[in-house]
Amino acid sequence: MYDVIVVGARCAGSPLAMLLARKGYRVVVLDRASFPRDTVSTHYVQPSGLARLRRWGLLDRLTATGCPPVTEALWWFGETSVRGFAPPHGDIAMALAPRRTVLDALLVDAAREAGAEIRESCTVRSLVRDDDGRVTGVRCQEQGGAEHTLSAPIVIGADGRDSLVARETGAEKYNSRPPLTVVYYTYWRGLRPERRHRNEVFLEGDKQIGVIPTHDDAYLIQAARPHDFFGEYRSDIERHYLKAIEEAAPALASELADGAERVERFRGSASLENFYRKPYGPGWALVGDAGYHKDPLTGQGISDAWRDAELLADAVHEVRSGHTDWDTAMAGYERLRNAASELIYEFTCEAASFEFDPMTRQLVRVLAENRDEADRFFGVIAGTVPAEEFFAPDNLLSMLARLPAEALAEITGTEGTR
Ligand SMILES: Cc1cc2nc3c(=O)[nH]c(=O)nc-3n(C[C@H](O)[C@H](O)[C@H](O)COP(=O)(O)OP(=O)(O)OC[C@H]3O[C@@H](n4cnc5c(N)ncnc54)[C@H](O)[C@@H]3O)c2cc1C
Repeated sequence: MYDVIVVGARCAGSPLAMLLARKGYRVVVLDRASFPRDTVSTHYVQPSGLARLRRWGLLDRLTATGCPPVTEALWWFGETSVRGFAPPHGDIAMALAPRRTVLDALLVDAAREAGAEIRESCTVRSLVRDDDGRVTGVRCQEQGGAEHTLSAPIVIGADGRDSLVARETGAEKYNSRPPLTVVYYTYWRGLRPERRHRNEVFLEGDKQIGVIPTHDDAYLIQAARPHDFFGEYRSDIERHYLKAIEEAAPALASELADGAERVERFRGSASLENFYRKPYGPGWALVGDAGYHKDPLTGQGISDAWRDAELLADAVHEVRSGHTDWDTAMAGYERLRNAASELIYEFTCEAASFEFDPMTRQLVRVLAENRDEADRFFGVIAGTVPAEEFFAPDNLLSMLARLPAEALAEITGTEGTR
């Protein structure tokens, strides 16, 4: 008998298992994949995420893999460029974009070292319940083996956005938006050296291009388009990918044409619905994408999974150590998760709709001319500046007050008087 069964061993499942095992619980993690194994995901990890890795004692291990630190952000909103970088989180003044083959394997190893049992190539087929409907275990199947039952008083779905645990428990979705984008990406070598520590993003009309440096002197370059474009994009991925780069980032397109080399196949996804799920019920809980999924455009998923793994581990500990009951602890977990994410969720959905409202467009002008404000904007995305502070009406108004009257008139729809 285990204390906790975790379904899924990537960004949410392995850290959760590690944290629970470190608190002395008997944890088993089941994943149908075996590691190292890639997954469809770009992999920009925010400074707030790296701060958690540092706290868990894993950051040095990750930096030792040779992943280049990202220390500058350069975002283009059409012709307007915003340059800066998030204020540091403690002494962490960088982001990293490690390959998922490296990152996920490191997390699995850390969970195993902490004492969690990891069963790879093990697929969970269904949940097991008692007569009252409370989840008490899983039916699972190791590669080539027979289906069997594992039991525990708590089963946690860290099994991604199409979570079986969520499906079988009927976990309610809320604040959901349909998929807004389709994104394809691949890896390149031979780009200019000044890109080695820079995250560059081009937002032009209905195209978003992102460039991030990663392991082995390679750069991940993604091209996102509105979800409606999915059918056409998929019909000729390479052509549409290069065309989007050419239209949104012509200098980058020339660089790719002049001697850069594409070193991997294209990967991508259009299954990018935005939603929260109620993350708990009798005997079960959800963490990571299973409980909260959003468009990847602002690169939040990995860092969010780590934050929520920590929140959930604390909540489970509260219950198992007898300090509080399940519903109270889990309601607290849901509340903290939502409070930490709701504003950046809204911003992500706005960015992923490719339609910035007039106020956001004018704010971009302020950011372009004020390095301090630009840093604070990047800090919101990086999780080092509280979103509620940056998006507070007083703060927005004081930034907008720097604009000339004509620009303010564009927001309010009145004519300028100055
Ligand atoms: C195109 C794209 C780009 C992205 N870019 C970024 C980015 O730059 N930065 C960022 O922070 N985030 C990004 N994300 C989001 C990020 O990938 C996710 O938020 C993150 O992987 C969530 O981790 P997770 O552990 O919750 O789920 P997953 O990574 O989906 O892991 C779930 C695991 O559960 C296992 N599993 C599922 N069902 C079963 C079952 N029945 N039995 C056994 N095992 C099962 C799977 O094998 C898998 O290993 C991106 C996502 C996409 C799609």
